[in-house]
Amino acid sequence: MAKELPLISADRFHDECAVFGIYGHKEAANLAYLGLYALQHRGQEASGIVSNDGEQFYVEKGQGHVADIFSQHALARLPGSMAIGHNRYSTAGGAGLKNVQPLSVNFAFGNLAVAHNGNLINATMLRSELEAYGAIFQSTSDTEVIIHLIAHSRADTLLDRVIDSLTQVRGAFSVVLMTDQGVIAARDPHGFRPLCLGRFRDAWIVASESCAFDLLDAEYVREIEPGELVVLDHRGVTSYKPFAPTRPAMCIFEYVYFSRPDSRIFGGSAVYSIRKAFGRQLALESAVDADIVIPVPDSGVPAALGYSEGSGVPFESGLIRNHYVGRTFIEPEQSIRHFGVKVKLNAVPEVLQGKRVVVVDDSLVRGTTSRKIVKMLRHAGAKEVHMRISSPPIVSPCFYGIDTPTKKELIASSHTTDEIRKYITADSLAYLSLDGMVKAAPGAPGQYCDACFTEQYPISFTRAEELQLGLFEPPR
Ligand code: AMP
Repeated sequence: MAKELPLISADRFHDECAVFGIYGHKEAANLAYLGLYALQHRGQEASGIVSNDGEQFYVEKGQGHVADIFSQHALARLPGSMAIGHNRYSTAGGAGLKNVQPLSVNFAFGNLAVAHNGNLINATMLRSELEAYGAIFQSTSDTEVIIHLIAHSRADTLLDRVIDSLTQVRGAFSVVLMTDQGVIAARDPHGFRPLCLGRFRDAWIVASESCAFDLLDAEYVREIEPGELVVLDHRGVTSYKPFAPTRPAMCIFEYVYFSRPDSRIFGGSAVYSIRKAFGRQLALESAVDADIVIPVPDSGVPAALGYSEGSGVPFESGLIRNHYVGRTFIEPEQSIRHFGVKVKLNAVPEVLQGKRVVVVDDSLVRGTTSRKIVKMLRHAGAKEVHMRISSPPIVSPCFYGIDTPTKKELIASSHTTDEIRKYITADSLAYLSLDGMVKAAPGAPGQYCDACFTEQYPISFTRAEELQLGLFEPPR
């Protein structure tokens, strides 16, 4: 009987991460700490920093939040003028210190550390191949595949080996590597996940989002382009375009939910303005008679402001968020997640009493949050509750690094908008249209990945991958 091979690692749905790299500052690790601190929203389960003082690599890692992991003592154990860092979220299956990035090794070409944001579609297949050639993996993380591919490469220089490795992986990567000589950063040819270049005095920095630069008072220079690889070393920044070019497919969900609103990503304006534009467009598309517009804080705030601007309906804060609990989705257990909505949000009866309320959230995934919110608003006295979502219905899972549940659990994959409206018990429900979203987003319409809304995946899957990803069910 055929043996079933897990093509995708257990933590495939949970790879929201932040990466950071710095070259050329004597307090590299301290700056990496600040960068990771600003990027905490991209992953809250574990963090690590690896520094290099020209002699050797130093590693500090831990589980939990950045501020709790890196004490002054821990940072003092990270000397050197270059460092890379990573924030990670994973499920229980993928957790454990051995999976905490950056992963670092010492091999024939010296020291190497890797931090990766994104998901590699063919990681498990490559892993099986490498294991067949004798590779011994120490973690269950997809990222280790990149290291083994570098070690197994026949290319002459380390840079060529890195390129060789990254040419073989398929999927999303915004990856930062550190060698004995410098820092290398690369973005996959589709450019799924963001990666920015910054400058702090004489030092060069790469980070997932520009908000990391702001905390350091560093200058945002530009986005690393899709398919671009940069080397930060004693020569400054050297740029390469080593991968076969393809159409850009930058994740539009970064604008919807994931990136911080004060960040500039994908070379555009602040995410805040884009979210606000989504809200304005939503108001144009689905206005309703109402007394107040309220956001689901925090992620719904810019879109609700935009909706209020676009509709002329006054903005109010009808829901208050407790900031000391994590994002609902980033709770590993379903039971905690359900409970989390109540813990996280509370309604303000004085604002809601007798009002026709438009409530704006950035996305509706399973519908659980909206259902609880509608109930909460009615309980607090709202006369009517009109749910407005500043993104289109999510119909298919992300395989490129955003945490989404399986297709079955995505309510819009099997229910009409009216069925969802009934489920969440709202008086009306409307989503932002795909055309409206793309129109409100900066740049050319064709440059985004919108697979979660369209099921049009920019990277085609082999049949075996489709099976593993649950995109294809063989006839019984
Ligand atoms: P749900 O209850 O599953 O419909 O979740 C909807 C809520 O989850 C919205 O308030 C979103 O802000 C939030 N959300 C959407 N996508 C994600 C994600 N990838 N990670 C964490 N939270 C998310």
